[in-house]
Amino acid sequence: MYRFFVSNLFPGRPEFPADSVWRKLIPSKINAFMWIVAHKKILTLDILQRRGLAIANICVMCCKEEESADHLLVDCEFTSGVWNELKKARSLTLTPNRDIITTIRSWNADCPTDLNGWIVYCALHSICWQVWLERNQRTFNDCCLPPTAVYKKAMHAAVEWLVAFGKISRDQAKWWLRTYLNV
Ligand SMILES: [Zn+2]
Repeated sequence: MYRFFVSNLFPGRPEFPADSVWRKLIPSKINAFMWIVAHKKILTLDILQRRGLAIANICVMCCKEEESADHLLVDCEFTSGVWNELKKARSLTLTPNRDIITTIRSWNADCPTDLNGWIVYCALHSICWQVWLERNQRTFNDCCLPPTAVYKKAMHAAVEWLVAFGKISRDQAKWWLRTYLNV
């Protein structure tokens, strides 16, 4: 039903990876954000330009390339630094694709059927959300954190989701942060 609805509403658009985005382990606010991301509707500078705003498009994170959802969350060098922290901590071989929808699909293939998978899955979503928050901090408040600090915030949030959903205890969360997420 969903696929029928989407294919008629957005003809020609890649099918939205609903199964991988609408996860119960992810807070609804983050699910909604990822839904908007997947549909290329977050208000990145490329979208604002297309809507007629006379603004320069330069990514506030790397100050080198134009900002788009795919650039900001997948291949910006700042975001790559955050992804690398997770890859190092978990010895992952996650390969972000240039397109965020393809990337989300590949995450679904990786996750999650056990605690390790849940944590990685929450971590991936949490990184996207924290990168977006950091982007907004830089845009509107002129303060900035390095990739390692954004990674730490994302990991703390991710394990909090698992505590909130009853998957792990608070003691386990501390242990995971320290032992397996390098926080
Ligand atoms: Zn960038």
